[in-house]
Amino acid sequence: MADAIWACNTLEKASSILSSRRPLRLQNFVSGNFHTPSASSSSPDIGYIDSYEPKTGKLLARVPCTQPDGVETAIRAAQDAFPAWSKTPRSERSRYLRRVSELLQEHRELFAVWESIDQGKTLARARVEVDRAIANFAYFSTYILHEQTAARTVDGVALTYEHRSPAGVFALISPWNMPLYLLTWKIAPCLAFGCTAVAKPSEVTSISAFLLAALFQKAGLPSGVINIIFGDGPTTGAALVASALVNGVSFTGGTQTGIAIRRSTASHIYKHMSLELGGKNPTLVFADAMAEDKRERTVSLAATAAFENQGEICLCGSRIYVEKAVYSDFVLEFTEHVRKTWVVEVNVGAVVSRQHYDKIRGYLKLADQEGVKFNLGGVPPELSDHDDASGYWIIPTVLTEAPSDSALVREEIFGPVVTISPFEDENDAVRLANDSDYGLAAIVVTADGGRMRRVSERLETGLVWVNSWLVRELGTPFGGVKNSGVGREGGEYSRDVFTVVKTVHLPSF
Ligand code: NAD
Repeated sequence: MADAIWACNTLEKASSILSSRRPLRLQNFVSGNFHTPSASSSSPDIGYIDSYEPKTGKLLARVPCTQPDGVETAIRAAQDAFPAWSKTPRSERSRYLRRVSELLQEHRELFAVWESIDQGKTLARARVEVDRAIANFAYFSTYILHEQTAARTVDGVALTYEHRSPAGVFALISPWNMPLYLLTWKIAPCLAFGCTAVAKPSEVTSISAFLLAALFQKAGLPSGVINIIFGDGPTTGAALVASALVNGVSFTGGTQTGIAIRRSTASHIYKHMSLELGGKNPTLVFADAMAEDKRERTVSLAATAAFENQGEICLCGSRIYVEKAVYSDFVLEFTEHVRKTWVVEVNVGAVVSRQHYDKIRGYLKLADQEGVKFNLGGVPPELSDHDDASGYWIIPTVLTEAPSDSALVREEIFGPVVTISPFEDENDAVRLANDSDYGLAAIVVTADGGRMRRVSERLETGLVWVNSWLVRELGTPFGGVKNSGVGREGGEYSRDVFTVVKTVHLPSF
């Protein structure tokens, strides 16, 4: 192998590796230090997972696959750290989080460059996500300083108040599409509310979590408060969520994995559970949004919602429905806009992995077989083993005339592929939007104020954006309905995930 494998555990080394571009060998971060997860009699070979650079197909990192014994060691580290951390004054916990946010700001470019290399996203997109990660720590560091506890009097003679305590050790598991942002979205509130954690990023994009561990070490976080381990789902993730020592799970990923986690934790009634799962989000474009002074904005909004981060965002609007009167105009203008604006290697990155490329390609082959119209894009080439070096690129694809029962309309493709279909009227738009197993987000584009509310309230989703997309204040509840998940995170909703609430009734004595 031409490239040497480097072990790396500091930000400084990561910087130098970045310039030499040699593959990394990752290590777990447990009890404040980096370790190669140990083998055991039950699992003599820990095994490594090779992770490739999406834009070039080159080997980028060797990710250890932590075996159940190694998972247990990390959980015990979090358990040992819990009593002291849960009693650490909020002001101190807040200071640690503030420090992490500052360090992340200092190393913003390093994280952004690595995230872009590892995930395939553009550097501009990666910078936005690092900024969100910085904001996650800053937000929760402030939030806990101003947290309010509800109290009321009963008949004027007794005080009743809510007492909250940290819920314990958490398993924090994240997917590959926004690796750093989504992992920190869990770690920041978890630590802020006094819990300790074992975090596991996706095995496909583990590098930013590895850098984050180095950053936690630099910030001087007490040993064991946050442990970051690496590995795949069936071995590492499954052992982590199923452990009886874990008091809660905050998971973001696919619906099938969410179902597996629910099954494996069913007998642990006590476990707090937040599952943020897949989506197949509708964008509803009404005729009034295609008026002369609005059409450019409407088309641009629908395209951004479909193709940002190569369509690899759970909130992407991947099914567009357009009112019949303006349908043909919209398809023409949308296709032209996408052709000019969403350009591969400029603002469309590579899709995350060979496996994902093959999955998306499978859907596009299906479109071809079903006679669906390709207004833009086509079936991407099949990659032979030798072709990997060209990377995993898919041209933004605009499909029309897909039947409403087609997998293209019903299943989450999670790539730069969008379907456009017509609707008759408001009722029909709502019916089509809700005709889905998923219920994460929806986008409504209209100039009619009454319709904005009527439609938003009838949509079966956890979030609705009217004439906007992806704008979110960190205190607002985030989560889905139907197969898109259970639980809400954000501000006080994250507090519900990570704390146990008790009512104390205190009469005068
Ligand atoms: P995935 O479910 O395959 O994997 C997610 C994480 O779970 C990974 O870290 C993986 O190793 C781990 N995992 C897999 N099997 C496990 C098991 N049995 N037990 C415990 N952990 C296990 O998802 P993915 O392919 O990495 O990510 C894409 C999916 O994530 C899409 O469906 C997307 O919609 C969803 N997503 C949802 C949100 C949201 O907020 N709702 C945000 C981003 C991504």
